[in-house]
Amino acid sequence: MKESMKKFNFQANNAEFIQFIKLVSSLPEEWDSNYTDQQLTQSEHILNLIKDTNSVKTIYTKLQDSVARVPVKSQEFWKNKLFINFEMPWREVYINNFNSTIENRLRSFQIKLNLNAIVCNQILHSFGKIDSDLCTFCKNATENVYHVFYSCHVTRLYWENVCAWISARTRVPLTLPPVNLLFGVHNGGSGDKLVNCMLLCARYVIYQCKYSENKPTVFRFVCFLNSVRVSECHVSKKTQEKCRTPMKTQNGTMPLENMEFYPRKKSQHLYLKRLIKLKL
Ligand SMILES: [Zn+2]
Repeated sequence: MKESMKKFNFQANNAEFIQFIKLVSSLPEEWDSNYTDQQLTQSEHILNLIKDTNSVKTIYTKLQDSVARVPVKSQEFWKNKLFINFEMPWREVYINNFNSTIENRLRSFQIKLNLNAIVCNQILHSFGKIDSDLCTFCKNATENVYHVFYSCHVTRLYWENVCAWISARTRVPLTLPPVNLLFGVHNGGSGDKLVNCMLLCARYVIYQCKYSENKPTVFRFVCFLNSVRVSECHVSKKTQEKCRTPMKTQNGTMPLENMEFYPRKKSQHLYLKRLIKLKL
């Protein structure tokens, strides 16, 4: 008792100390045992991980895997909303969209779209943040993620024009169902990286226009695509310079293996070439 009083700086006549004692004595005993068990289990789990692996990265990935959960709710939502009657390749959706750009804002935007987690007027109105839940573009229907990114007549017209523009530039006829417009083209593999990059930019323009209260147009899409292309080229050039930097050996010559330029992967190289050649 005296030790506790000293530790928590309580005086003998302190009313708060009595309250403290009452509070501690009211805690159920099983809380103590549960807490200890849980701690032991977690420590044992981590110790086992360390024993089995010798790399920090592997331990990190394993710990990450142990807490990762499949977002079943959002996947079910899109399945029902878009009438998807096949096994949706969610893994490809995440990987291909991530790889189709180097811009983190586009990557994080797509993840929010996959999770149906973009804040729309319907939610803001239910929180009492705005007066109306109507769509920013058409002012005619409740604004939710599905409406604003696909079913709104303003967005549908935009998608038609964007698809026609992409078809004309890539010479690939493009009449895509909503599932491809929202999540990209995957074909059971990596899909067409350039088309996925353009579709991701087109989606992001809708997102930007929603917040800036403008209507999405092909002109805005082309301007945005150009800005993405400029930043891709800039990063590529920088990395290329870095790779070209001579790493001289002791006798002053540059070893051949250091002459490789970015992008090293052939697919990445072809993709960037196509993006640069694209007539905007
Ligand atoms: Zn609308």
